[in-house]
Amino acid sequence: MIKFHPNEELLVQYVQGNLDSALAVVVGTHIDMCQHCKAHARDIETHLSAKELGASTDFSELTMQAMLEDILNSAAPAISAPQQILDKVTVEGKQFRLPPALKRVSHRLGDWSKVPGSVWRAPLKVDDHSAVNLIYMGAGASVPEHTHRQHEATLVINGTFNDEHDRYHDGDFVFLGADHRHSPQTAEEDCLTLAWLDAPLQFTSGMARLLNPFSSLFFK
Ligand SMILES: [Zn+2]
Repeated sequence: MIKFHPNEELLVQYVQGNLDSALAVVVGTHIDMCQHCKAHARDIETHLSAKELGASTDFSELTMQAMLEDILNSAAPAISAPQQILDKVTVEGKQFRLPPALKRVSHRLGDWSKVPGSVWRAPLKVDDHSAVNLIYMGAGASVPEHTHRQHEATLVINGTFNDEHDRYHDGDFVFLGADHRHSPQTAEEDCLTLAWLDAPLQFTSGMARLLNPFSSLFFK
């Protein structure tokens, strides 16, 4: 049972296509995994398009005709070379099936690299400007306590992790702002998450503070 969902504002921006493209992959992947948000996003879409139609009832038949012609005459989309779409990823000998929204951009997934503390990450460059990371935490792993200069979105693809606030399972979507600090950990179970940041992490405790100059290399 999914307990944490994107808020209304994020869902509306997602449906409108106004989200940062990497954050949209995280929200879209949650929607793939969550029947509740899938239905709700559809409702928002219906509501918004009804509003749009209502606002443009003065379309003359001539305008409609012109629009139709435009659509019919527009060039067919270029067909690019087939790209390698992955159904699943393998890390540390474990396989994880990818939800559809993630599968669509899987050909952009970079190589896995190990970061300290039984944590692996693979960058996924969604476009020229924004990226997400797949983060795999083995059992008993921890990420040093940190805050965010802006926002962090984390989606559990498979497994369980916890922080000071709660425990998060498959499909849970956690959105944290700059005022939150937390230290994600796994216990007996490992965890694959999808993580998005709009600014590098800020480590707050002990030795990890020394990592701050490099935090952008870690997670972004
Ligand atoms: Zn949901």
